Amino acid sequence: MNVPLLDLVAQYRAIKDDVLPAIQEVIESQQFVMGPAVPRLEAAVAQLAGATHGIACASGTDALLLPLKALDLESGDEVITTSFTFFATAGTIHNAGGTPVFVDIEPGTFNIDPAAVEVAITPRTRAIMPVHLYGQMAAMERLRAVARARGLPIIEDAAQAIGARRMIEGQWRMAGELGWATGFSFFPSKNLGAWGDGGMMVTSDDALAERLRRLRLHGGAKQYHHDEVGTNSRLDSLQAAVLLAKLPHLASWSAKRREHAAYYTRGLADLPAVRPPVVDPANEHIFHQYTLRVERRNELQARLKSQGIGSAIYYPVPLHLQPCFSHLGYRPGRLPASERASGEVLSLPVYPELTRGQLDCVIETIRGFYR
Ligand SMILES: *Cc1c(COP(=O)(O)O)cnc(C)c1O
Repeated sequence: MNVPLLDLVAQYRAIKDDVLPAIQEVIESQQFVMGPAVPRLEAAVAQLAGATHGIACASGTDALLLPLKALDLESGDEVITTSFTFFATAGTIHNAGGTPVFVDIEPGTFNIDPAAVEVAITPRTRAIMPVHLYGQMAAMERLRAVARARGLPIIEDAAQAIGARRMIEGQWRMAGELGWATGFSFFPSKNLGAWGDGGMMVTSDDALAERLRRLRLHGGAKQYHHDEVGTNSRLDSLQAAVLLAKLPHLASWSAKRREHAAYYTRGLADLPAVRPPVVDPANEHIFHQYTLRVERRNELQARLKSQGIGSAIYYPVPLHLQPCFSHLGYRPGRLPASERASGEVLSLPVYPELTRGQLDCVIETIRGFYR
């Protein structure tokens, strides 16, 4: 049975009657850049994230880079982040002129360890950048306590966590609600994916929102008048129309992902060689990825592949050990939880359109491998 890691064609078939007319409308209007679909999407995503402002941009990477630029980092300024994440998290810190300071993760959730953040703060620390990895939120209440004590802003990398939430002091708080700024990605494989690149920043800080709008448009609030040097990072109207048509499906897609995750976890629970993902009881996970820790990973992956089952390793090398950051002087052994995770993780197909038969095939193949 064929079980790809992700099947966007299945999603396309289900929604094409919603999306194609929305695209047609943009084409008829010929307003391809910053047309009316863009502010509508900005308002809708801001509302979903519990924030006041949404500022669309060209990618999830830019949705992190522009808030980092708004910090006006100087050479040697530090931003504390996790080593176990996609490269963009740290690449943007570097490209904004700062130095990434990598700290370790909590082994259960794979998310940044707030206690490690606290220890890593120096007089040069300018911000804290947690990642809500695989779709479950980092311990924002603990990070906020650390940040507040030092007057540091938090920039949330929520590229994998649109619509995720966490119960804090009896209240649901959304990814994007508690940070100073938050970046979302609409890369096609994300839970809310465009038909190309796209991103969104959200914030409830009015002055920051104005600054981000400027930075995305060459630093000028008024056309041809430039208060600072920004860039061109707009979301095009076709992508905004696709995303607006998809957005009403997001909650049910995430619920399906949760169902599939629970099914896998039940089906694999008794295997000593496999550790299913740990969901922090405070979190509602959106399972951008369903990620196991496994023994004999390469052999298992080969077996899955031979049965037509897709899988992937997110991420095989923690960022503190990437060659491009060798000048920062990290050595193997420095962040043991991140390094161990990189050697053990394996993500399985968890997209909403998976059938029961496909899920059973994945479970049976894994059980057969370890038998
Ligand atoms: C996808 C992703 C990004 C970058 O998003 P793009 O839209 O691909 O630029 C940043 N951080 C994390 C954790 C991601 O998964």
